[in-house]
Amino acid sequence: MKMLKYALLSGEMQRNRLLRQLSAHIFRRSYSSNIRNIGILAHIDAGKTTTTERMLFYSGKTRSLGEVHRGNTVTDYLTQERERGITICSSAVTFPWSGNRINLLDTPGHIDFTMEVEQSLYAVDGVVVVLDGTAGVEAQTVTVWTQADKHKLPRLAFVNKMDRPDADFDKCVNDLRTKLETQPVCIQYPSKNQDGLLTINDVITLEQLTWQPKDLGRSYSKTKLEPSDDLRQLQEKRNELIDQLSGLDDELADVVISTESFDNVSNALIERALRRATCQQKVVPVLLGSAYKNVGIQRLMDAVNAYLPAPEERNQIYDCFGNEVAGKVFKIVHDKQRGPLTLVRILRGEIKRGMRLICSRGQAEVVSKLYEPLADEYREVGAVQSGDVVICAGLKSTVTGDLLTSSQTALRNAQKRLKQSQGTVSTDEDEELDTDELFGIDRQIPDAVYFCSIEPPSVSSQTAMEQALRQLQREDPSLRVSYDSVTGQTVLGGMGELHMDIIKSRILSEYKIDVDLGPLQIAYKETIESPSLTTLSVEKEIAGSKQNVSLTLEVVKDQGELFSLDKSPENLSNLNTLRPRTLQVIRKGSVSALERGPRVGGQVVDTQIRLHNAIIGRGTADSFVMATAAQCVQKLLSTSGTRLLEPIMALQIVAPSERISGIMADLSRRRALINDVLPKGERNKMILVNAPLAELSGYSSALRTISSGTASMTMQPSGFSGMNAVDESLAERRVQGLE
Ligand code: GDP
Ligand code: MG
Repeated sequence: MKMLKYALLSGEMQRNRLLRQLSAHIFRRSYSSNIRNIGILAHIDAGKTTTTERMLFYSGKTRSLGEVHRGNTVTDYLTQERERGITICSSAVTFPWSGNRINLLDTPGHIDFTMEVEQSLYAVDGVVVVLDGTAGVEAQTVTVWTQADKHKLPRLAFVNKMDRPDADFDKCVNDLRTKLETQPVCIQYPSKNQDGLLTINDVITLEQLTWQPKDLGRSYSKTKLEPSDDLRQLQEKRNELIDQLSGLDDELADVVISTESFDNVSNALIERALRRATCQQKVVPVLLGSAYKNVGIQRLMDAVNAYLPAPEERNQIYDCFGNEVAGKVFKIVHDKQRGPLTLVRILRGEIKRGMRLICSRGQAEVVSKLYEPLADEYREVGAVQSGDVVICAGLKSTVTGDLLTSSQTALRNAQKRLKQSQGTVSTDEDEELDTDELFGIDRQIPDAVYFCSIEPPSVSSQTAMEQALRQLQREDPSLRVSYDSVTGQTVLGGMGELHMDIIKSRILSEYKIDVDLGPLQIAYKETIESPSLTTLSVEKEIAGSKQNVSLTLEVVKDQGELFSLDKSPENLSNLNTLRPRTLQVIRKGSVSALERGPRVGGQVVDTQIRLHNAIIGRGTADSFVMATAAQCVQKLLSTSGTRLLEPIMALQIVAPSERISGIMADLSRRRALINDVLPKGERNKMILVNAPLAELSGYSSALRTISSGTASMTMQPSGFSGMNAVDESLAERRVQGLE
């Protein structure tokens, strides 16, 4: 049957099919040096999504141009993203460009989603930072830049929106230098053709690049500049560029010194020097264009190929895996037909369909299918190699941030090899090796700073809602879900209003449940001030059997273990008679009481429960023991009383020196603690400050007003801190809805 079908295909069709298979094979089998894994980062509205759409279009991956305002872009594929015109979930897309394969991760630009950006940065080897040419370096640009610094990622800057009359290229370059303390290297300058349309002057080749508006910018022409003032200026820029790079690159310096001139420096030599300096993060090449008007995107992709590193140039720490699989899970998405899909950056080895893999916590998983990423469309593939990005179906317990390996043995061997190479080989065979530490798996999920209740439209949809929340949590570990046994409500914890809103609308659009969210509240924590001890004895008859428990518990201030035993001689003999199972039940009951403090229902932290004595009558049920333990701890907490801890945000504010005093005066009214004021560049200062979240509502727009738009700011959660009695009761009234 199959033979017959094959014979029926015409000669040409067969040839085309073979060619397609062959080219797919070559494309797939490409060496990893032909791959670029890049992230695309920006302040919201700078034009990331539009730029990504153009890249897909010019590489032939899409046939039409998606526009954000029309809601038909490929990467903003969640309904809410299309409706709001912003990017929330980072999605991966893959496309060929000039013989390379570019895997590009679009990332969310809003402060509520910094965790997502963080995870995707593990998967990339370089970053394109998109600037809005009319706005320069903005608050979120500083945040993402700092994150890229942390991951030591080489960067390109793309100054977008240069078609707009109010765009200012020089200001953007200056911002890069002063606000981000980098060394920008301009390899392009903006110019205009006779029709007044944006063109680009290439500093290295001394060409003018002109895009044709007619064919959606698919092609562009290169013309050598005629001798003119423009050419002379450009030549000067080229000399400046060579001068700048020769201070950083030996090969280039040698040529300049030996020929005593800049004129003999070839384009190829400049490009090599620029590549080395970029990969070592000494400089940031700056390009420009207009994504919306289709100018400059092809050159941006050329620059990704030319200046950003290939996978094998980074992540050498994973060499200890040899040919065994090592892969970083950077995202989990839920697909209606395919279920949960895990996005993995393969660092070493090859992942094949049907393969068994082990996640960080030791569970074995089977990869049922593999897909190549193209936003919400997936193409099935059989195997994917080191250096690439792949989507795995079938993984059930893996979560974002995990390291996937071929087997426990492979992981242990890799750890040993790594330790040996670092010269810290342990003589103790059984010593626990900390994979997370060794392989830099960042499991620091930010503490929720806001919470709100969430309610299903009817009791019958409670289970479905819980199921949906569980799925969403796997995708987004910064979402916290808990159950408040006092009010009987499910409670969401998260990073901000937008975060919660998105969760609500995703539950509606993906799970068809129209949930209600309660008012957004600040997530206070509680802690005890002094230790206290009590004994609680409870006796009851349930269904004819006598239940009898007497527990002596103490709460003490301690940041370590949640639960401990009082090992003093008078108690030890009693505690030694307890069965381990009973101990577990007491522990579980007491610790559960720490989830809700007596004052505002906040989590009780820095508090340890110590068991002194326990007498449990024969036949008493575990559930009864557990409830008594919880009740005993509640009693302790409410009699000893708790203090509130409030979430603190760490802010970095950069502003011109003359604006600093106004900003500081406003901050002092917000209970802020100024940590430092540092000079930043020639004209600016940077304020490092901690301030309570409760005082920061609407702060970014307030700062804009105070500084007339000259200041930029980043904000991150920075732990919790105590407050004075006045602020405490104010917070309490706010929680009770009295303020
Ligand atoms: P993102 O938030 O960074 O993903 O930015 P978008 O790609 O969604 O773009 C934000 C807005 O700016 C949209 O309305 C775009 O149409 C517009 N935009 C993007 N690029 C350009 C550009 O090069 N020129 C102009 N004039 N507008 C642009
Ligand atoms: Mg976007």
